Amino acid sequence: MAVIKEPSFRESVDIMFNQAVALMDLPPGIEEKIRVCNSTYTVRFGVRLRGQMHTFTGYRSVHSEHMEPVKGGIRYALAVDQDEVEALAALMTFKCALVEAPFGGSKGGLCIDPRQWEEHELEQITRRFAFELVKRDLINPSQNVPAPDMGTGEREMAWIADTYRRMNTTDINGNACVTGKPAHAGGIQGRVEATGRGVQYALREFFRHPEDVKAANLSGTLDGKRVIVQGLGNVGYHAAKFLQEEDGSRIIGIIERDGALYNPDGLNVEKVREWIVKHGGVSGYPDATHHAEGGAVLEEECDILIPAALEGVINMGNAERIKAPLIIEAANGPVTAGADDILRKKGTVIIPDMYANAGGVTVSYFEWVKNLSHIRFGRMQRRQEEARHELIVKELERLDDFLGDKWSMTPDFKAQYLRGAGELELVRSGLDDTMRTAYQAISSMWHSRDDVRDLRTAAYLVAIGRVAGSYTAKGL
Ligand code: NAD
Repeated sequence: MAVIKEPSFRESVDIMFNQAVALMDLPPGIEEKIRVCNSTYTVRFGVRLRGQMHTFTGYRSVHSEHMEPVKGGIRYALAVDQDEVEALAALMTFKCALVEAPFGGSKGGLCIDPRQWEEHELEQITRRFAFELVKRDLINPSQNVPAPDMGTGEREMAWIADTYRRMNTTDINGNACVTGKPAHAGGIQGRVEATGRGVQYALREFFRHPEDVKAANLSGTLDGKRVIVQGLGNVGYHAAKFLQEEDGSRIIGIIERDGALYNPDGLNVEKVREWIVKHGGVSGYPDATHHAEGGAVLEEECDILIPAALEGVINMGNAERIKAPLIIEAANGPVTAGADDILRKKGTVIIPDMYANAGGVTVSYFEWVKNLSHIRFGRMQRRQEEARHELIVKELERLDDFLGDKWSMTPDFKAQYLRGAGELELVRSGLDDTMRTAYQAISSMWHSRDDVRDLRTAAYLVAIGRVAGSYTAKGL
């Protein structure tokens, strides 16, 4: 069914959900149970700042409690409202199911432009918001575990964890009340990069599926592919950086709030990021053409388009002009349901948000497990693993001596093979495995049925099937 008027983000999620459940044979009542958002708490609280009382509005929405705790980031942005938070919470339910993170879906938001406030003011605001949520168990290691999202990061998560611990001094699992904390404050290596890293792993897995690559009218590998990224924040920066440095992709366009940079020969992601940090935007950056109207660069010719900033940026107004044959939704909801229709008809392949940006929640899951087990991953095994490898290396050295000039070990082999995996290697390995397995599930769903017309529908089918299975098993 074609979409006629531009749907909101919330409506887009509903439309995509409906299109998927229409293909499923769910037990009576389950469809409605999965569709609805269980609860949304709105809080208005005051903080005395700059000599006067300021009132802030925040939300924490719980979409599904078929598994607990529920999980989902906290966003700081002026556009935050109940509809947006509920749509994001629903996506979290499906995302967790898809990557087999044992959580229900939740999301939070605060209507605030973080750039308008000093750090110490943001700390006061965040701690007060956290207090309001903690006292209602909307932040709790066994019930509801937030994480960073747009406008928040490690710093805010550290304040939230500290607020919870002050209010629950005897909870030995207190650190598990929030993920995305700094490594020295209960966090885990690799969480900051996780969502961007997940986007890279998702693309690598896509390119391991020749049938899917062909569907996008592409060929080969990520090497040399022309990429345009919107939003050089946490997700966009890491995705672009890894694709450039490790996969040989060419980042030809970067779109930010104050316009876009374009250079067909490629932009240096690290340098652009440094420029943004120093100057507050991309304006004035040398070695590139500057477009004041950033959105126009979404429509430039490229192989892969990575929207990693806002929702609804690819809509019925510009979808027809989007030339990228492959779009990976690093942001949540960047393609509206109306644009989705138009792009599908054009043959564009979309790797959907629910899967593409699930790297964040995957590593959040690892962090939560680490916090509950009170031990760093790899701490018990690393040296033992090294010792076992040492045995093999010694045998190989014996062989090396015996064979003389006929054979010798590759120069770096010994050092590389001997090194046991530390936390970062283990996190990346777990993330890579998760992203591969989830892609395989959705790709095979896509190809197994004629009525599953794209990867998004396939992802919904896999995720809804798992959530429905959980509700049915529990009789909820
Ligand atoms: P962020 O705040 O770190 O970065 C957002 C970037 O987008 C910033 O650089 C900002 O300047 C830029 N931006 C804002 N408005 C823009 C505009 N109009 N045009 C172009 N650029 C603009 O946020 P983030 O954490 O990278 O999140 C980005 C998206 O990824 C969001 O949709 C978020 O929900 C999603 N996401 C984030 C995570 C995570 O772990 N951080 C996990 C899953 C999904």
